[in-house]
Amino acid sequence: MSQPYPTPTLRAIDGALMLENVALQEIAARCGTPTYVYSRAALTSAFEAYQRALAGRRALVCYAVKANSNLGVLSVFARLGAGFDIVSGGELARVLAAGGDAGKVVFSGVGKSRAEMRRAIEAGIRCFNVESAAELERLDEVAGQLGRKAPIALRVNPDVDPKTHPYISTGLKSNKFGVAFDDAFALYRRASQLPNLRVSGVACHIGSQLLDPAPMAEAAQKVLGLVDKLAAEGIALDHIDLGGGLGIRYRDENPPAVADYLAPLLAVFAGRREELCFEPGRSLVGNAGLLLTRIEYLKPGADRNFAIVDAAMNDLARPALYDAYHEVVAVRARDVPARRYEIVGPICESGDFLAHDRSLAVADGDLLAILSAGAYGMTMSSNYNTRGRAAEVIVDGDRIHLVRERETVDSLYALEKPLA
Ligand SMILES: *Cc1c(COP(=O)(O)O)cnc(C)c1O
Repeated sequence: MSQPYPTPTLRAIDGALMLENVALQEIAARCGTPTYVYSRAALTSAFEAYQRALAGRRALVCYAVKANSNLGVLSVFARLGAGFDIVSGGELARVLAAGGDAGKVVFSGVGKSRAEMRRAIEAGIRCFNVESAAELERLDEVAGQLGRKAPIALRVNPDVDPKTHPYISTGLKSNKFGVAFDDAFALYRRASQLPNLRVSGVACHIGSQLLDPAPMAEAAQKVLGLVDKLAAEGIALDHIDLGGGLGIRYRDENPPAVADYLAPLLAVFAGRREELCFEPGRSLVGNAGLLLTRIEYLKPGADRNFAIVDAAMNDLARPALYDAYHEVVAVRARDVPARRYEIVGPICESGDFLAHDRSLAVADGDLLAILSAGAYGMTMSSNYNTRGRAAEVIVDGDRIHLVRERETVDSLYALEKPLA
């Protein structure tokens, strides 16, 4: 039987949804709602798919922390030997607090501050993925002040043809990420002359939710050309970082298996000695997590019916922000006629919706699971409308680990004060 849900460890038993061996109903009873729930087995199998596909090669999988930065999630990956791709000093602190190895951290992002550079050099990270000429100069200066040599890769923009791959968003000339491919050679020369930098690798990341390996393989080919040109110039790189971006199934997408996605890339680098790095985010956590929410009110209408739930756009922003689709399923089957509902939250914005026009057989007070919410869910949440952030739970077999407590209202204004 094919898995009916995008989450591999979710199943219905006697009409009740279970994640691994835990009933979602029990999590709601113990921890309340809304609550993000992640499956350790699903996190682990997603990571192991990368490890298996890369077996026998020098390779490092650096989980992109911004997809889901909960310490519990990070600790699962740290124990599996993962590296981490960070985009801020805050994410570095999280990785270290979760037991991650600084020596396997790569630091991406267009706006690294001096303080962030300092912390990362002191921690001994694996590599800075530098995104501009100005950043190169600043990093050299900061490293010099610390008496250290900072390892760098340039994040290049392979400018993969948008006509052949219309969905690519970050690998084009016209965006803020990376350095133009044609400028990279001169910048590597400059970097190799700066006394406090060690030229270590090259990086690229062309986009997100990619469902076809072709554009990445095209980018990899271009990057390889640059690596060879640099070697001819006496600049030898020890690693090639191909970024993240593999997509997942939210609705009816059909993403390639990790091995099939990586195969054409590995073919490009067959027989090469450089270490290959990858920075997957969404594909490691997206379908390992769901958002558990309770229906506060059913509100039938002439035009449409609303199911008003206790989760909202502040908890899961993707539908409001990107018109993203998430599957919504009732946690317990109920013997009432199905109706079509708009699934909305309590926030005072008409854009506060989680799903449109879904057929559900539910009553007031029922629980819903919003699927594929493990990536860019909690990390993009806010306190809009003075709503505390959701709790977070990791399910492991038949155990429930509360890995983030629900925020209390007083904690939301603890840093504020009325005028004296
Ligand atoms: C966001 C990001 C990733 C992860 O992307 P996914 O689509 O979640 O795999 C990897 N690398 C960089 C530089 C990023 O900005």
